[in-house]
Amino acid sequence: MHKRKLIDSHGRVIHKLRVQITDACNFRCFYCMPQQVQFTPSKELLSSSEIIDICSNLVDFGIDEMRVSGGEPTLRKDFCDIIRELSRLAVGRLGVTTNGFILKDILPELKDSKCQNINISLDSLDQNTFKKITKTDYFNKALESIITAQRMGFHVKVNMVILRGVNDHELFDFINFSAQYGVEVRFLELMKIGPYYKNHSQLFVSAQELIERLEEREELEPQSVNCDSTSFNFHTSSGAKIGFIASESQPFCGFCSRLRLTATGRLRACIMSEAGINLRGIDKERYPDILQSVMGMKPTERIDHIKQPMYQIGG
Ligand code: SF4
Repeated sequence: MHKRKLIDSHGRVIHKLRVQITDACNFRCFYCMPQQVQFTPSKELLSSSEIIDICSNLVDFGIDEMRVSGGEPTLRKDFCDIIRELSRLAVGRLGVTTNGFILKDILPELKDSKCQNINISLDSLDQNTFKKITKTDYFNKALESIITAQRMGFHVKVNMVILRGVNDHELFDFINFSAQYGVEVRFLELMKIGPYYKNHSQLFVSAQELIERLEEREELEPQSVNCDSTSFNFHTSSGAKIGFIASESQPFCGFCSRLRLTATGRLRACIMSEAGINLRGIDKERYPDILQSVMGMKPTERIDHIKQPMYQIGG
């Protein structure tokens, strides 16, 4: 059967879907969420069958890559069931973004699924700095999950949000970590998302500044990536595999290929805009018009900031 393609009015081929399955999280990363927080009651979240139905329909219209996110997606008791069901769909790539808190325990179940691409957020290799950022003592759990997933042969990427004066001094520690364990480390620019965007300039470090720091000690060999890749990657002379997601200083909206399904069923065109249409209970016949409308909401240039916190958006 001829595979349909989603192409917006700017010629962008939309084929990736972020699937947020909860906004709840057990970490309190200060740049992502306030200490006191209200999560969406579970009865308002899409059920696993609603998630699968909507995702199955979207696959029929051209989505071929999915990444499950949160909040912290593994907090959902039916997380592994959702992954198993999504693995039955005709997606070429399935992944998850997680804080690694309970990942180690469920890796054996994921091993038989299509979910082989695991991005684990780790903003520090120092227990105290980790605690300062996440307000938790789960450093060892996250680290063990990374090392175990890598050893089990999953495609592991470590995402580090660079924060000036907080963890940017650990740049070379993460280079050594990548070289030692063979995991790809990606340095993420802090985005102007959520209540913290007012402090953005104090904490922001650009990818270019990091590259200049690295080149004082390392040779960086550029690696080729797909045009819709969010990161640009290098291999270093010390054997590390690194990437940079420079969505503030080098936005990539012109090649954006992603849509986002929120945990309550809203299909959004962009991380920086709440605009979207809810797909909950919508018949498949209405999808073509809805997809055209939502794709029409996708900006071609970077929206400066959004007040909605990241945990509500789904990363
Ligand atoms: S800011 Fe929006 S349009 Fe730009 S790359 Fe991100 S999701 Fe895509």
